[in-house]
Amino acid sequence: MLKRRLFTPGPVPVPSRVRQAMAQPILNHRAADFLPVFERCRKGLQRVFQTESPVVILAASATGAMDSAVSNMLSPGDHALVVRGGKFGERWGEICASYGVRTTCIDVEWGRAVDPAAVERALETAPDIRAVYVTASETSTGVRHPVREIAEVVRRGGDRLLAVDAVTAAGVYDLPMDRWELDVVVSGSQKAFMLPPGLAFIGLSERAQRFMGTATCSRFYFDLGAELKALPKDQTSWTPAVGLLMGLDESLKIILEEQGLEETWARTEELARVTREAMCAIGLELLAPDAPSPATTAVRVPDGVEGPAFRKYLRDELGYTLADGQDSLKGKVFRIAHLGYFDRFDTIAAIAAIEMALIANGHDAPPGEATRLAVELLSK
Ligand SMILES: *Cc1c(COP(=O)(O)O)cnc(C)c1O
Repeated sequence: MLKRRLFTPGPVPVPSRVRQAMAQPILNHRAADFLPVFERCRKGLQRVFQTESPVVILAASATGAMDSAVSNMLSPGDHALVVRGGKFGERWGEICASYGVRTTCIDVEWGRAVDPAAVERALETAPDIRAVYVTASETSTGVRHPVREIAEVVRRGGDRLLAVDAVTAAGVYDLPMDRWELDVVVSGSQKAFMLPPGLAFIGLSERAQRFMGTATCSRFYFDLGAELKALPKDQTSWTPAVGLLMGLDESLKIILEEQGLEETWARTEELARVTREAMCAIGLELLAPDAPSPATTAVRVPDGVEGPAFRKYLRDELGYTLADGQDSLKGKVFRIAHLGYFDRFDTIAAIAAIEMALIANGHDAPPGEATRLAVELLSK
């Protein structure tokens, strides 16, 4: 028997309670019994985003919300600053380009966090920059960028929009939208929300709503102005993903009421820290040792081990699906998820599986060393 275990930083496993909630008979989205479900979802999302501002729910993967964060905020020819240090930072740049938004890009080495001083310099050099697009937790490299410091820099100079890809930060660690004055905050269902893919969330500050008033990029499906009109009535412009919202209602109950948001952050952080220590204990190197995100840990495949064979062994012989590196990191790193529905024993077992697969694929380390450390660190 081989149990399948999913350890990718999205999609993540879905708790059986949430799957059961989604298996209930589908409600009509205009019917009275659906409205309280939607209301609890939109209010719960505000708590996870730590904002009094509205959080729009879209039937899309998270990239849909990123797309809307450009098309609804800017006009063709506007100038935007994009921080690129991985796949998702690059995506901001690609979306801007597709709408004819001019970009200045800060390129950060993959595995490193951006220096807020570089953002400051870029803004001083080009005072016409209207919006800054950053990634909080760069899932492709496992880096956590300093959003708070970037926000301070952006807020110092003029009326600029700050849009944050918080897809693997919301519900993962403390990223208070209102307190840090973030204008646009984006996330998606298949990350810390422990749901299947298919919902995107986008928080919109007052400044963001003001920018929406003048933005002329073309848009139809992702018209956030129309969504904001429908939202207070617990409605959406188009048919919402009813089944996923029934699941979101349940997962928000787990996150906010049963576990607590801060406890969720603390658990995720601890699993990430222990994983990093366990990997280093058997001679492995982290891709992002200086600024690790607790959402996922990217580990370099050690010399002498073939990345693809190692991941294939994990999947086919041990049942573990881990994420590969992307682009130039393909086959060179593997990524372990910590966000969402993982507990201590999931993490201990994943570390054991990684260790077994490494040794089976030629890595020289005493069996059980990383697992023993994980058990020790997670015993309390
Ligand atoms: C997963 C992810 C996305 C995009 O998600 P899709 O749901 O595939 O559109 C964007 N940014 C980050 C940081 C992510 O981890």
